Amino acid sequence: PLARLNDPSLLKTQAFINGQWIDGASRFPVQDPATGAHLADVALLSRSDARRAIDAANAALPAWRNLTGKQRHAILLRWYVLLIEHQEDLARIMTAEQGKPFAEARGEVSYGASFVEWFAEEAKRTNGETLPQFDNNRRLLVIKQPIGVCAAITPWNFPLAMITRKVAPALAAGCTVVIKPAELTPLTALAAVELARRAGIPDGVLNIVTSDSAGSIEIGKELCENDTVRHLSFTGSTEVGRILMRQCAPTVKKLALELGGNAPFIVFDDADIDSAVEGAIASKYRNAGQTCVCANRIYVQDGVYDEFAEKFAAKVSAFKVGNGFEEGVVQGPLIEPAALEKVQNHIDDALAKGGKLLTGGQRLHGQFFQPTVIADATADMKVAREETFGPLAPLFRFATEQEAIDAANHTEFGLASYFYSRDVGRIFRVGEALEYGMVGINVGIIASEHVPFGGVKQSGLGREGSHHGIDEYLELKYLCLGDI
Ligand code: ADP
Repeated sequence: PLARLNDPSLLKTQAFINGQWIDGASRFPVQDPATGAHLADVALLSRSDARRAIDAANAALPAWRNLTGKQRHAILLRWYVLLIEHQEDLARIMTAEQGKPFAEARGEVSYGASFVEWFAEEAKRTNGETLPQFDNNRRLLVIKQPIGVCAAITPWNFPLAMITRKVAPALAAGCTVVIKPAELTPLTALAAVELARRAGIPDGVLNIVTSDSAGSIEIGKELCENDTVRHLSFTGSTEVGRILMRQCAPTVKKLALELGGNAPFIVFDDADIDSAVEGAIASKYRNAGQTCVCANRIYVQDGVYDEFAEKFAAKVSAFKVGNGFEEGVVQGPLIEPAALEKVQNHIDDALAKGGKLLTGGQRLHGQFFQPTVIADATADMKVAREETFGPLAPLFRFATEQEAIDAANHTEFGLASYFYSRDVGRIFRVGEALEYGMVGINVGIIASEHVPFGGVKQSGLGREGSHHGIDEYLELKYLCLGDI
């Protein structure tokens, strides 16, 4: 698939430090999860390379931070335009290394680029404050300044958007950045950095260090322990988030963490059932269930349970599963063999505890898994507590509103949640009672650059996107003028 790029020079396999494409001591392979085909060998960098990247980012900081917001805006806007111009190629690279259907990959390019556009605009609006004085001899100001050198560690499920969502606000704020992309999907990240270079982002302002999984752990240590790095933003598992938080404690680094979820999706008796079925499918099966906001537990009220289960399972069983480049495919492969094992393990556990298979349940060839629906799910099953991160939808039956709220909140996670109801009182009651950072009401897809994305409890710290997203990369400074 990569032989057919319109612009073959977007296919980069070296890392990028201080404006130079560089090699590491060796290389690591990147594979197509749909076919197992070898796509490229990418530079394998070490901890000392990461240190060089941090030093380059630090050296580039004064000049970048001293540009006006409007000057940074102009450069970021060029990057946005280039990302959109190369949408087809970026999507092609993404489907090849990540597996998602090509239409979803194109959608991610739009979504990923939208953060660059949005924060290009916000670069001009990092307004401070003047405060009423507490003493007439003084005047009080608050200004916002870039936090400094930032690091971003990103996952494979959104190979572009998880980078732009961090990097764009950091650059807009006047920070410089070192990116460590996921080892499974470095090619999309490298292509995005090549476009940033073409857009005129100065040397050292944006650096990317690639490595395999063992090397990523070592580079992660440097990004956490190096005192020059003032902010670390991570999207990935809660388990790795905890490690990074611990590693950042000695340097008291500011952290943004977007971690695991266990999203509930509640369908009340008064819901529009056809709309709820559509929403549940969009939320559950997007990216083959491999997103942190995918519905993980579907709770359906007694009165509509049978109707919902029948309509939902019928639609899911009609999915076309296959290579993301094939016409009409809505579900691609899972990212790696371990992901298939986890789905199988959750299915086996659910069936052993009384779950009823409505559709799917089997591995297909290679890294493909049938979209699966299990009815009669119960709270003692693994699917109730752990994020499956795959195409398995468990249906839980409930009787009362309070029962649904209690079950939904019974988790250490708190990222996305969803419910369907047409009762305005219930919409407010349930919307306010769900202990989640985000609530979709009568809708299954909620992300956009306009809104603050993030979780509560063990789903993370901070918000990405919206006008709040840039504050993550700015420090408040209070100026107190005396002797007036
Ligand atoms: P996922 O569940 O999405 O596979 P991970 O949390 O394992 O997520 O990985 C997300 C990112 O974190 C990847 O870029 C990966 O290389 C990186 N990573 C994984 N383990 C560590 C670690 N111990 N230190 C630093 N980075 C890590």
